[in-house]
Amino acid sequence: MDERAGALAVRHAGRLRCRRGCAACCVDELTVFAVEALRIRARAPDVLREEPHPPGACAFLDDAGACRIHPYRPYVCRTQGLPLRWIDSDAPEGPVERRDVCPLNDTGEPIETLPAEACWELGPVEGRIAALEAARSGGAPARVRLRELFGAGATARPARRR
Ligand code: SF4
Repeated sequence: MDERAGALAVRHAGRLRCRRGCAACCVDELTVFAVEALRIRARAPDVLREEPHPPGACAFLDDAGACRIHPYRPYVCRTQGLPLRWIDSDAPEGPVERRDVCPLNDTGEPIETLPAEACWELGPVEGRIAALEAARSGGAPARVRLRELFGAGATARPARRR
């Protein structure tokens, strides 16, 4: 994931404004697969004993707008900022490709005309993580609110997209 996202970050270096202190996409109420939450709990137990960021932004932000678990941040945080593409299977006209990018990074070549391989494709990695989670839990892939990792611990919830 990081290799592919890193290659795209190089490809889009001229448009990306993502840097330490920019937390525009670090919104509150993000959920991750339970297997991702396990990794955060295992790698960053000290952070989980700190106070969460107040509601209104991701609980893992610090006072300077930086991520306190950056090396262990979940999948969704590793691809935000890149031009994204996905297939909308629920469109009235039938399956159609959609694209999006952070408004701060919407400069240069319009994302609509980028080759498909220049965008991060939503779906395949999520599917692989969901399969890992299903294999781990033996049930339907569960998701966890990042904020719930602080204090009492994680609570499994039905799967839902960001
Ligand atoms: S986990 Fe880190 S990168 Fe992800 S939304 Fe929270 S603060 Fe931002």
